[in-house]
Amino acid sequence: MSGSSLLDVRGLTKYFPIEEGLLRRVVGHVRAVDHVSLSISRGRTLGLVGESGSGKTTLGRCVLRAIDLTAGEILFHHEGVTTDLAQLSRREMREFRKHMQMIFQDPYSSLDPRKTVFDIVSEPLRINRIAAGKALEDRVRTVLELVGMDVRYMKRFPHAFSGGQRQRIGIARALSINPQLIVCDEAVSALDVSVQAQILNLLKDLQEEFKLTYLFIAHDLSVVEHVSDEVAVMYVGKLVEQAPTQALFTSPRHPYTEALLSAIPRPDPDRPLPETGGIEGELPDPANPPPGCYFHPRCPYAEPICREQEPPLIEIAPGHTSACHFVEELELQGLED
Ligand code: SF4
Repeated sequence: MSGSSLLDVRGLTKYFPIEEGLLRRVVGHVRAVDHVSLSISRGRTLGLVGESGSGKTTLGRCVLRAIDLTAGEILFHHEGVTTDLAQLSRREMREFRKHMQMIFQDPYSSLDPRKTVFDIVSEPLRINRIAAGKALEDRVRTVLELVGMDVRYMKRFPHAFSGGQRQRIGIARALSINPQLIVCDEAVSALDVSVQAQILNLLKDLQEEFKLTYLFIAHDLSVVEHVSDEVAVMYVGKLVEQAPTQALFTSPRHPYTEALLSAIPRPDPDRPLPETGGIEGELPDPANPPPGCYFHPRCPYAEPICREQEPPLIEIAPGHTSACHFVEELELQGLED
């Protein structure tokens, strides 16, 4: 796998301590990400989905070392050398930051309102000392053109632009230093549906042109469907299913994935919603998850064993894994092709 992989994440774990009292005694942990392993191939997109609070964003931030992880490996393959980013000091990490960038959810709050478009887009180039003077200006012009922005407006401030244009500015900023990996964290969630489609198409075009690798985080499965080669589903900090996109959408092998799929609105009045009709109940508290399978309090197929034993994540077909005790027995409903 690592031959074509840009990134192999192994056993990534991030626990946040819960502290109490004046002495800040640690009384428990929020298990935001719990022993997650996944790989992203060069030039491909891995969609990472799950409800809010499932740990997706924390995982993305750990991969970029924006926050430290509790345990695990982040193996980054670059020019024939594999580096475990988890082992690098903040100083050593600086060199690798050039290769990875993030596009944030909210184009309204992720751009500094006091900076011009030029300042925002040129920032990674200046911080990483990649360009200065005329070369810096040329590069900013080039990336703004690439994302479909009019370079005449680069001295304007973010408030002068629409949500879609601001997200284009965010993409230009990420693109400016020519990264290999971009973590898109709910990158289109705050946008209108028609603008979402434009931004998704732009991301796909840029991926093709520059062989970019995306970790595409979204709570909405319908958003990842058209951009992802593979999809990984997280529930309360754990990976519960991963598969090539079409297999996951048409033949889900985990009840949580089936429930997420059933919540996707489809513009076909003749197609009835599956009986599960979405996901009932609340996501459990990651500081105090239920025993056994974390999904059992909400799972329509739960049996006594599900309350007692945690199901292992197993491969059921090439590239398709699921963590469910009844993965071989259940006939789950996906979406039609
Ligand atoms: Fe549902 Fe049991 Fe499978 Fe968990 S292990 S998803 S509770 S059937």
